[in-house]
Amino acid sequence: MQKIIGLIGGMSWESSAEYYRIINELVRERLGGLRSAQCLMWSFDFAEIEALQSTGHWDDATQEMIKAAQRLERGGADFVVICTNTMHRMADDVQAAINIPLLHIADPTAERMKKAGLSKVGLLGTAFTMEQDFYKGRLINKHGFDVLVPDDDDRKIVHQIIYDELVQGIVNESSRLAYREIIDRLVARGAQAIILGCTEIMLLVKQSDSSVPVYDTTTIHAEAAVEHSLAG
Ligand code: GLU
Repeated sequence: MQKIIGLIGGMSWESSAEYYRIINELVRERLGGLRSAQCLMWSFDFAEIEALQSTGHWDDATQEMIKAAQRLERGGADFVVICTNTMHRMADDVQAAINIPLLHIADPTAERMKKAGLSKVGLLGTAFTMEQDFYKGRLINKHGFDVLVPDDDDRKIVHQIIYDELVQGIVNESSRLAYREIIDRLVARGAQAIILGCTEIMLLVKQSDSSVPVYDTTTIHAEAAVEHSLAG
């Protein structure tokens, strides 16, 4: 029996499509033949969410995330995954408002990095993820990592490329080169690995763009969802 995966997506749908593909590929790989994942997805109109983020209306954004999770729970989901790093800002509030588990995106990534013996890691993501405490704080306090983020100018570049390009399905070679340079600077500061802490970065950056291991949160989170769905 597969547990039903509830996906909170549309932030952006470019990455939600990756979750859907990876989850289904893995279920086929694990179970064979015609098997595919049992899942539900709520997909937001990202323009509405982005407007709340960029104007700092986080309480309204939290209410939207809670409504989405409750819809999935009513629809029969056995657990919920939020398909974006940024919107884990309100993960605790979402968990408190539902009776099914929420699989936090940072935890399976952190577990893998711990297994690999890493202690100092570089984090790329939206400005919210790189600058606010909800994500970095979890990696530091819950998992014991030393977390490096790019400097001010580099953080602006990383953030702009996400919102101006990646969430709109635009993948530019010049942006890939910019990310490569930013990764190099984090490695020079001691990063032993790079967390692709925004679910669209994997559309742009591959392992070959980094001299240290990259941890893609989209793939790792999708894999964790399948693990949880098939466990027990
Ligand atoms: N998908 C992105 C993330 O993982 C950014 C879009 C959003 O703000 O949700 O953070």
